Amino acid sequence: MLPKAPLMTIDGKGVEGSEKLSVINPATGKSFIEVPDCTREELDRAVAAARRAFPEWKALSYDARREALLAIAAVLEEHGDEIAELIVQEQGKPFSAAQGEIRSGLRWSRGTAALELPVRIAEDSAERRVEVHRVPIGVVGAIAPWNFPIVQACWKILPALLAGNTVVLKPSPFTPVATLRLGELLQGVLPAGVLNVVSGGDRLGPWMTEHPDIDKISFTGSTATGKLVMRSAAGTLKRLTLELGGNDAAIVMEDADITKAVEGLAWGAMRNAGQICSATKRIYVHDSVYDHFARAFADRVAGVRFDRADVAGAEVGPVQNRTQFERVSAIIEDSRAEGHGFLLGEAEAGSDAGYLIKPAIIDCPPDDSRIVVEEQFGPVVPLLRFTELDDVLKRVNATQYGLGVSIWSADLAKARELSLAIDCGTAWINETQYVSPDFPFGGHKQSGLGVENGIEGLLAYTQTQTLVLRRG
Ligand code: NAD
Repeated sequence: MLPKAPLMTIDGKGVEGSEKLSVINPATGKSFIEVPDCTREELDRAVAAARRAFPEWKALSYDARREALLAIAAVLEEHGDEIAELIVQEQGKPFSAAQGEIRSGLRWSRGTAALELPVRIAEDSAERRVEVHRVPIGVVGAIAPWNFPIVQACWKILPALLAGNTVVLKPSPFTPVATLRLGELLQGVLPAGVLNVVSGGDRLGPWMTEHPDIDKISFTGSTATGKLVMRSAAGTLKRLTLELGGNDAAIVMEDADITKAVEGLAWGAMRNAGQICSATKRIYVHDSVYDHFARAFADRVAGVRFDRADVAGAEVGPVQNRTQFERVSAIIEDSRAEGHGFLLGEAEAGSDAGYLIKPAIIDCPPDDSRIVVEEQFGPVVPLLRFTELDDVLKRVNATQYGLGVSIWSADLAKARELSLAIDCGTAWINETQYVSPDFPFGGHKQSGLGVENGIEGLLAYTQTQTLVLRRG
């Protein structure tokens, strides 16, 4: 059944929008709904509403804002399946995966609400008392990608609101529907203007990043777009958090538990059709266990059911949009043309009706091949051999990216030492992609600027205000 088109939320009310944007279902490649294509005037109204709502929201107690986050959790819980169904249609993932996304949003709402923002006493002497307060920044423009529309929105709006900011949230033009619906559901929960949700095409992001009345941009997307955002935000010296691309490596050491590594990395590489910033995108395996690992890994991935979300038993859906379908197909084609070995997926072609791509595993391509160097962001992964730790360390670090790494070994001390030598925001040992509202996530090098999550992520939505009180 076609969902009813949700509206934008501006100043606490639904806004139909004077122009429209159509949204495609990746399972069919066809448009299934039209949503508002926000005009500049509508964006100005949203920003003005956020600005008006700011002083009162900021003046609320921290505990009152904490309660608001718990109220958001209650909405996600009550309407979880309805929102998950929209995610399936616009994003392409199976319903169970979309439900997982809602559960994650819930965990983030409650976990973020539990964070504290204490005043730091820097000096407390006979002469003076110095207090370092954390105050909100103002109006936050939150710009999200299409891989996890609700989770990515939650990672931004929850800490921004808790810290006392107001928000204008823009989902990706590829996946605006569930986010718009969440905005509608929150209209009665948050005061008018505190959270505005606007949807639009390619013109809307740049309007936000250059907007004179937005104080901070929290952006998640590709490294190339992140650079445009930074340039555009310079005009008004906006505060920035940039969560960008990754080319995460996994290192499977000779003493690794191969069964566990195979299970962890099959999902690490293929979950959400590989469309995760911290998906495992290169797997380096010690020569002594390479053949064993490669066989077991190919068998495991071959057992994952890739299909349209409406096919019973589907575990992984199509990639999200045509550009991504063409990009990932071209990377696989490049490996074919270059004569790389395939452990899986050599003969498979993507489906033309939708954007389904069957998984592929490339066997020891050269280090300078596209599949090793580029962020594939799709269900294809290269396996690479190594023998010496020094060598693998150099190869893992030889990239502009620095998001995450996973190391698989029975020797935790050695794995820990190795992980600290890798340029990355997160190193996982014997697992991958475990993230939480309790600790920071972000990238080194060109994988980003700043972090999200944890107290460090919350602080990014504040600025310091130091009070110096002279005594006597
Ligand atoms: P994208 O850069 O194409 O788009 C991201 C968002 O930016 C969208 O909302 C888009 O409309 C908007 N946008 C596009 N051009 C803009 C501009 N000039 N100014 C302002 N906004 C603009 O990214 P995507 O294709 O949606 O997402 C995939 C990328 O996101 C991958 O590289 C992935 O690694 C990255 N990602 C990173 C993280 C992380 O936490 N580091 C998480 C998820 C995804």
